[in-house]
Amino acid sequence: MLAMASELVNYQRVVIDQDTCISCGACVAACPYQALELDENGKSRLIWEMCKDDFSCVAVCPVKAIHKTSEAPSDFKSKKGWYRFGKSLTDAEKAAFEEWRSKFGVSAEPV
Ligand code: SF4
Repeated sequence: MLAMASELVNYQRVVIDQDTCISCGACVAACPYQALELDENGKSRLIWEMCKDDFSCVAVCPVKAIHKTSEAPSDFKSKKGWYRFGKSLTDAEKAAFEEWRSKFGVSAEPV
């Protein structure tokens, strides 16, 4: 479990600006890890622990709504709604999540 947690720390993931998203679904189709979905409003949303930094989503988005977390504007990182957990996290995974938030300055809470 510790190995899994450290693996989780190593991924930077992506930040989605749902206000820019036009609900085309290209990112959902492109992700090889099924780490993206369209939410109840048809906007792209990240399933946090599924992302493994493939970044195909960044490349295919026609309106540039998705950014690598290290490159995302800070106001995107404070908006609500763009990521959730796909499962209950273990304590080690929660620690990895908090490290990720701190490292990249993500102030938004998961949905
Ligand atoms: S590719 Fe971009 S516009 Fe299309 S659903 Fe994903 S985030 Fe939204």
